[in-house]
Amino acid sequence: MVVVAGEPSFRESVDLMFNRAVRHMDLSPGLEQKIRVCNSTYTVRFGVRLRGKIETFTGYRSVHSEHMEPVKGGIRFASNVNQDEVEALAALMTYKCALVETPFGGSKGGLCIDPRQYDERELELITRRFAYELIKRDLINPAQNVPAPDMGTSEREMAWIADQYARMNTTDINAKACVTGKPLNAGGIMGRVEATGRGVQYALREFFRHPEDIAKAGLSGKLDGKRVVVQGLGNVGYHAAKFLSEEDGAKIIAILERDGALTSDAGLDVEDVRQWIVKTGSIRDYPGAAFTDAGAKVLETECDILIPAAMEGVINLSNAERIQARLIIEAANGPITFGADEILRKKGAVIIPDMYANAGGVTVSYFEWVKNLSHIRFGRMQRRAEETRHELLVNELERLSADKGLGWTLSPDFKKRYLHGAGELELVRSGLDDTMRTAYQAMRDVWHGRDDVEDLRVAAYIVSISRVAATYQSKGL
Ligand code: NAD
Repeated sequence: MVVVAGEPSFRESVDLMFNRAVRHMDLSPGLEQKIRVCNSTYTVRFGVRLRGKIETFTGYRSVHSEHMEPVKGGIRFASNVNQDEVEALAALMTYKCALVETPFGGSKGGLCIDPRQYDERELELITRRFAYELIKRDLINPAQNVPAPDMGTSEREMAWIADQYARMNTTDINAKACVTGKPLNAGGIMGRVEATGRGVQYALREFFRHPEDIAKAGLSGKLDGKRVVVQGLGNVGYHAAKFLSEEDGAKIIAILERDGALTSDAGLDVEDVRQWIVKTGSIRDYPGAAFTDAGAKVLETECDILIPAAMEGVINLSNAERIQARLIIEAANGPITFGADEILRKKGAVIIPDMYANAGGVTVSYFEWVKNLSHIRFGRMQRRAEETRHELLVNELERLSADKGLGWTLSPDFKKRYLHGAGELELVRSGLDDTMRTAYQAMRDVWHGRDDVEDLRVAAYIVSISRVAATYQSKGL
């Protein structure tokens, strides 16, 4: 977390945003308090023998709300992980899951570690040991608590966690559902790696379907040609920037990374920059773009859309006044502090809030969990039946045309696309697109439908909190 004097902590910032929203709601103080508080945080310290000596690590797993189970939330590996941050992220998971209607409570985990300091074998030992500590307390369990990747973790760590769980629960037929974001060969689902970035793309596409919303941000037209600044070219930032530039015509004019920023008015080739980082470990010396050490300053670049996709607290009281973007989409969790949010709103910027913007990950995690519990790949039963039915129609049309001498011909491209039955990837994308559109509509109805609601963040909180409250109330609380 970027800490600026006079600013609340990440956890406090989330609570202040929650409080701002509940003022517009009619909740009893008791229920309001119940929803806001974090139910529990487990702290574990464990030793691992590495390079001839024992090293002690500290990890956390917070459960914010169990109004639905299992609870869900990523595991982060970063050297600055702390209880406040993990609890803030767990709270955001509760609201996020409610907003996109995934049937989970909110949770989050973190391990204080700089993963770049360890080799793969060492990281496996550390991850398995951390997982062991959580599994034996049911803090990883298909029915109770299901982690996923977050900053500093990926498919690889999820595969180790799934295997660790399976070793400790040899007769659990649903063992694979204990964690999501796994590689395909370990029970994962197609489209999960890209899901959060894909969700950011679908969120922006949905925003740009509404001229009234575009106008609120002082923009016009479509996504095509919009000038975009992206912070963080990790899992989320890379996929979002890649899809927006390659599929929607957006122009990525700056990429900020931990060691500086690249800028280019002509637009950056995201895939090429990513390959450069993979090859050299840095964005420095990338040919074909200007480089500056003062990366954070580039957040203030004049642009249409700003996508903070790295970490929390990067837009804060120290720089909010100078941010020029008209539309900010929070691909990271908590990139805008409570104080900065107020400044940006006064300046007229539209903020698409994190709990919606980056919900693509948990949405596709939900699909993966369902796939694991049903033990069958999506589309396996229907795909060929769908193709056969479509083929019947195409054949009949062609026969009619020939019989009646109508001379109709279906274009080869249409035939190819129409005859293609949906496989897992297409179904995942369809489910994700539907989720992002439906959740945006729910937020939008509150944003435009109520005179007392001025921004999408409050609208998102109102939708989420109402749903969590309804679940608690139906349980008799
Ligand atoms: P990641 O570790 O894959 O990528 C983070 C990137 O940000 C890295 O490239 C890193 O070098 C860069 N970075 C770190 N500090 C920076 C700084 N100060 N300035 C510029 N760049 C910096 O992580 P990720 O999974 O892409 O997660 C990024 C954010 O998205 C986090 O806030 C995370 O909680 C959130 N998120 C991730 C997922 C997911 O599915 N991975 C889902 C929802 C939300």
